[in-house]
Amino acid sequence: MKAALLASKGELAVREIPDAAHEGWAVVETRAAGICGTELHIIDALFEPPRYPFTIGHEAAGVVASAPEGSPVRAGQRVAVYNMIGCGHCEWCRSGNPQVCTEPVGQLGFTLDGTFSDYIAVPAENLVPLPDEVSFADAALLSCAGMTAVHASRLGGVALGDVVVVDGVGGVGLMMIQVARACGADVLAIADEETKAELARAAGAERCIVLGPGGYADVAEAVREATSGAGASHFVELVGTEESMLAGLRSLRRHGTFVSIGYTGEHLNVHPVELILSELRWVSSVAASRRDLETAVGLCAGGRLETVVDTRYPLDQVGVGLDRLRARKVSGRNVLVWE
Ligand SMILES: [Zn+2]
Ligand SMILES: [Zn+2]
Repeated sequence: MKAALLASKGELAVREIPDAAHEGWAVVETRAAGICGTELHIIDALFEPPRYPFTIGHEAAGVVASAPEGSPVRAGQRVAVYNMIGCGHCEWCRSGNPQVCTEPVGQLGFTLDGTFSDYIAVPAENLVPLPDEVSFADAALLSCAGMTAVHASRLGGVALGDVVVVDGVGGVGLMMIQVARACGADVLAIADEETKAELARAAGAERCIVLGPGGYADVAEAVREATSGAGASHFVELVGTEESMLAGLRSLRRHGTFVSIGYTGEHLNVHPVELILSELRWVSSVAASRRDLETAVGLCAGGRLETVVDTRYPLDQVGVGLDRLRARKVSGRNVLVWE
């Protein structure tokens, strides 16, 4: 089979490799795989793969090629791939939270060979059946950005009547706007340019703040102005610089919740009193559970969660998609497709 892999540190190549296979696991014939910003971190060795060559990619959907006897899925079934493989027996896995498993088997595209290949080996329990309404490209994007947005809104407790600020209009941001709306919240999005604000409005954001020359220094005041002085109930942080995080904390109303997802190399220096006096909550969210992916698939099937695909590329063109992502020229997500 063909795969996009890192032959050595930073060296991307598309090559023939042995077909994916793993004792006791299913094999999926890949039909779509999203190209995510995380791939750039892996190529740049910010997260170093455990070995080279290493197949990249962690978002995928396809058709079951084979599944072990007694599996919950059968050959020929359309599925999304849930990429976190927990140990299956720690208290976190048992409670449906393999994303915080203490001894994980691994994660596709991070520590286990990923999804940018003609076939993917993965436990059958990680496969989420797809209704006909959900395309392979949709499902591939739900298997990262979509489920992440569902998970963050669950952990953050987003509910009817809340005012949710979504900071950052990328792949996760566009999903977050829709999920928050589905929860019954009003959404205010923060974008760094007008074209992204347009995307945010199209996804359902009632209001947008487009960052001006003052950057995040003006955001807290703008949020307060937009909320009759009260501040937001939630600030979902997808940018993760110190100034964006400070702006977020200062945008919240009393008992507001800061939802931390995105990060950079920057630290946050804040005096606890800034949080204490308003009894703020800090909730951190990493990836998602399998149930969150199921929820995202259900929302998409019902027309309440739409994906934004920028360009579809064949596997051979993966480098083009990654270069455009690095140049920040992608609106929504680029997707690899097998047709
Ligand atoms: Zn991703
Ligand atoms: Zn576990």
